[in-house]
Amino acid sequence: MNIGLVIGIVAVVLVLGFVLTRKEQDEPSAAPTPEPQPEPAATQSEKPTLVMSPDEAQQAANESMASTEPTVTPEEQTETPAPSEAEAEVETAAEPDAEATAEPAAEEPQSVAVDAEDPSEAETQLAPVEGLNTLDNPEGGNAVLCLLDVNGPDLSVPNRSTLSAAQQIAQARSAELHVCCLGADTSSASQAAVEGVSAVHSITHAHLGDGVAESFFAAAMTALGSVAADVIVGPSSSAGKGYLPRLAEQLGCGMVTEILSVESGDTFTRALWAGSVIATVQGTGRLVVSVRATGFEPAVTQAAEPQEIPFEAPVTKTRFVGRETTESARPDLSEASVVVSGGRGTKGDFAPIEQLADALGAAMGASRAACDAGWVPNDLQVGQTGKVVAPSLYIAAGLSGAIQHIAGMKGSKTIVAINKDEEAPIFGVADYGLVADLFEVCPELADKVGEQGLKPTA
Ligand SMILES: Cc1cc2nc3c(=O)[nH]c(=O)nc-3n(C[C@H](O)[C@H](O)[C@H](O)COP(=O)(O)OP(=O)(O)OC[C@H]3O[C@@H](n4cnc5c(N)ncnc54)[C@H](O)[C@@H]3O)c2cc1C
Repeated sequence: MNIGLVIGIVAVVLVLGFVLTRKEQDEPSAAPTPEPQPEPAATQSEKPTLVMSPDEAQQAANESMASTEPTVTPEEQTETPAPSEAEAEVETAAEPDAEATAEPAAEEPQSVAVDAEDPSEAETQLAPVEGLNTLDNPEGGNAVLCLLDVNGPDLSVPNRSTLSAAQQIAQARSAELHVCCLGADTSSASQAAVEGVSAVHSITHAHLGDGVAESFFAAAMTALGSVAADVIVGPSSSAGKGYLPRLAEQLGCGMVTEILSVESGDTFTRALWAGSVIATVQGTGRLVVSVRATGFEPAVTQAAEPQEIPFEAPVTKTRFVGRETTESARPDLSEASVVVSGGRGTKGDFAPIEQLADALGAAMGASRAACDAGWVPNDLQVGQTGKVVAPSLYIAAGLSGAIQHIAGMKGSKTIVAINKDEEAPIFGVADYGLVADLFEVCPELADKVGEQGLKPTA
């Protein structure tokens, strides 16, 4: 493939309607320190060479996946040794849906004023709220409660994907769907309705901005005091990973984690072994379900009039002390439509990756090898133990395509691989492959993107 064709691909993908969001923030001074690492033997061609046609690449990817992605029934799973929990403890994401823009807030939910600085003033109160409690059946009622951890006026892509999953579960069970937004700023609850929703609730408290699992757990129990739900659904976010298992334990019910699809009202699929195996899991009775957002299209949301549920934050055994945040002018890796990732092939020089990412208005990602070497921050890591991303376009330059990396990006709609080694496994999952030196090709691509006016407008 010549570079013109790659430019064409990028142009078509962009013209097809990416909405690329850029944060209007200062760019960090992330100057990686080059740290040479042993490089696998590779043959460098002077000109970029076509590795395989898109059809061939797709066929290779299909064959590769077909040989490694059996669907496992519960019966089959009992015969299979359980995988290590080293798998898939990652953030989830999916690409933003331009059409899923929610309507403006109709009515802001009211906050319950409790002093965030002095939790000793508040008493643990997990009892159902008087007048709102409908949880007279300890096994729950015929309802699905979707818990979202929110922060600010916009409903994030992972939250909207979780709404999609909850909507599917409610439809499959012919159950009512209730949504409850938990956070210090739950103003996004006013856009958290989806088709078929019975009610949108919010629990607003300063402690829910701290990420302390005990606070979220208490808020979730309070929400359950208002909604008699037999399925509780939440995103597999940092907060969700902390409090949803507590909820399942407290309710004495089963939990299915990081679902990828809804097969029926009680049966779901989830990934095992870095996505090499897809298991089908069935729950019985009351259930807690966490959602891997890349498995679901973000829901098209509607305006809502959320009902605030009174909540008193408990005195928690862990207390929020502070946080450090990474500022970047680039889009958030978890939500970007375009991601350009670099690996050990950069030899620590990420300038060509940054140049191409900036030309495309893309987020930057990296392999674990690049992060472990200290060339880029760890929060850029894509993969099994990094972030799971599913952008419309994923460009992988100078990374081999280890299974642990592929686990974090194979949901991308179009994958472009740039590698000197035509035998690199990344070409097995790539839609388009370029056998080339990234130091030549990435700047050239960036220039062409700029020349052809493909720079995103939003
Ligand atoms: C439990 C566990 C979890 C893991 N989790 C993750 C994870 O989340 N994410 C992850 O990425 N890895 C993860 N790994 C590590 C993973 O197995 C690989 O070691 C890692 O992904 C390799 O990174 P790499 O592709 O950058 O490096 P390499 O495998 O060394 O590949 C470098 C590639 O760059 C190419 N190259 C060299 N020079 C150039 C050039 N000038 N131009 C173009 N191409 C060039 C080479 O041909 C080679 O293919 C995990 C491993 C374990 C055991």
